[in-house]
Amino acid sequence: MSGVTCYADLHIHIGRAGGRTVKVTASDDLTLPRIIEYVPRRKGLAILGIVDAASPLVQQEFVALIEEGMLTPVKGGGLAAADLLLVPAAEIELPHNACGSAHYLAYFPGLEEVKAFAAELKPFMTNPNLSTQLVRLTPGEAYDLAAACGGFLIPAHAFTPHKGVLGACAANLVEVFGERALIGLELGLSADTQMADTVSGLCELTFLTSSDAHSLAKIGREYMQFSLQELNFSSLEAALRRQGPNRVIANYGLAPKLGKYHRTYCPVCNTIFTDPHPVLFCPGCPQDKLVLGVWDRLQQIADQPSASPSHRPPYVYQVPLEMLPGLGPKSIQRLIDLVGPEKYVLNTAPYAELAQAIGRRGAEVIIAARSGALTLVPGGGGRYGRVRLH
Ligand SMILES: [Zn+2]
Ligand SMILES: [Zn+2]
Repeated sequence: MSGVTCYADLHIHIGRAGGRTVKVTASDDLTLPRIIEYVPRRKGLAILGIVDAASPLVQQEFVALIEEGMLTPVKGGGLAAADLLLVPAAEIELPHNACGSAHYLAYFPGLEEVKAFAAELKPFMTNPNLSTQLVRLTPGEAYDLAAACGGFLIPAHAFTPHKGVLGACAANLVEVFGERALIGLELGLSADTQMADTVSGLCELTFLTSSDAHSLAKIGREYMQFSLQELNFSSLEAALRRQGPNRVIANYGLAPKLGKYHRTYCPVCNTIFTDPHPVLFCPGCPQDKLVLGVWDRLQQIADQPSASPSHRPPYVYQVPLEMLPGLGPKSIQRLIDLVGPEKYVLNTAPYAELAQAIGRRGAEVIIAARSGALTLVPGGGGRYGRVRLH
């Protein structure tokens, strides 16, 4: 049987559509046409989840691109632009009874379905044009609505102290969703498979690694490799459900230490903790300001030694080019122009090819990143971790 092996980044925002703001914190050139033009050559990804597709501004742009012949709805779901498949999706914020609120991602086969979902949400939100808006529904209600509209809903960046359901709102998903079976969960930049598999309640879920890109450059800093029967939404969904021959083959993600919320941060004494035990309070400072780290939080809710179920694919660590010391924008551009897409540069390109493009020193750094030989200083409290050469 023939099938396709391909790479997907399922969490990409839109900065502007039709000249108007969709996501305030995203860059101006993060638009649908730019994404379509930029991603295939630069990133080598085949499937992109566009998580602001519930915004009427983004929907209008989708429709305009279809009318111009740049996008074509695909049988089985998704919209094709040459070799790219775009999956319409919506990131929303939902309040929790106990405390806080968290982000969720709902994915749909087509524009009609995401429009129907947006129409259901509209009475419960303030500004539907903007990204990741608060919707006054419970996660269970939103899950049911997504399913009724032909899609599925999963938690976004599940363990982060900032709007992650297990990081900020609940200790387990049964509290949140009751008996509803979730397909998967997005790990977020500060966690990996091994960390998440210390929570026994998550073993049936497929883990998603996606970039949560707010700019073109950050697309693909996390992604997944899939084996699909066909390049369409239904094969993608089947892979996440582990149905038929469709599978996630590998998760590619940031080394968790590089994430913005890996360790606990105290803004009062400006400390990112590096203690070998979980830090749940800061000695001597007011506790209400503490930003819990994903690693620290997972130690708190873990109920088993890390034990991955047999269905779990390997997790491949990568350090994005822009985080590597000594590699400036010019070197990165040369690598893309002369060697290939970022993914190939980071994970596959032989030393000689890299050295020919940017010299021995730069090539050595990329090879060192591959083998995990770089020293990583953990991030926390919204600041990314850093890479040190030694
Ligand atoms: Zn989010
Ligand atoms: Zn997001």
